[in-house]
Amino acid sequence: MSILCYHSVARGWDDPVSVEPADFERQCALVRRGGGTVPLREVLHRVAADGVAPRGATVLTFDDGFADYAEHAVPIMERHGLTATMYVVAGSVTGSGVSVNWITGLDPADAPALLTPDQIRDLHARGWDIGSHSMTHRDLSTLTEAECLADLRESRDLLSDLLGAAVTTLAYPFGKHAPHVRRAAERAGYTLAVALPDGPEEAGRFAVPRTGVYRGNPDWKFRVKSSAWYPRIRTSAIYRTMSSKRNATTVRT
Ligand SMILES: [Zn+2]
Repeated sequence: MSILCYHSVARGWDDPVSVEPADFERQCALVRRGGGTVPLREVLHRVAADGVAPRGATVLTFDDGFADYAEHAVPIMERHGLTATMYVVAGSVTGSGVSVNWITGLDPADAPALLTPDQIRDLHARGWDIGSHSMTHRDLSTLTEAECLADLRESRDLLSDLLGAAVTTLAYPFGKHAPHVRRAAERAGYTLAVALPDGPEEAGRFAVPRTGVYRGNPDWKFRVKSSAWYPRIRTSAIYRTMSSKRNATTVRT
């Protein structure tokens, strides 16, 4: 099984984090033919032991809570009978909102809209899983454990109150974590947290590895990324050596 991580599905946003709807449509067709999706919560108990997802279907996740999720991604996934978890930056559901200041090279003033609280509630009511992506998308590994705990508790409470249901999973901003961040996530009441490793990283229930899908990934590359063996290769020391030789760029958001 592969757990994939998307950010935006939109037309003409020329940024690595944004996949064109036509490309996403083809990728969804490939996922459907490969066995479809399973919701993250259904693999919880199976990743609980060692952080390794079972073989078989794909898990789709989205980070950051862009509004194009409701406009493009969800209708396409519905057509293919797929489902996903969206990780929302919880500060966006407060009165003050959040500034989208975490995308490299993007002026927050030019950032695409985020999902509104009503849209998040509506998606959840229609069966689309919602998780926390922290309060304001800070790199948690740079904060103290107490600061992480406060952030992760507040974001979980805010989203749980909004949805009327407990939010139990977390995606680390930028995929970044550390032992004190993982401890804070567990203490804040999450049952699982997903990461986005760009190199060797020990997997666990609070460091479940995902693979990022980015703009312009050709179909062959998507097939490789969604294969069961890719996450193991991707996080191995040998891949790091290979990719540094090719001067590959890595996007973690
Ligand atoms: Zn993010």
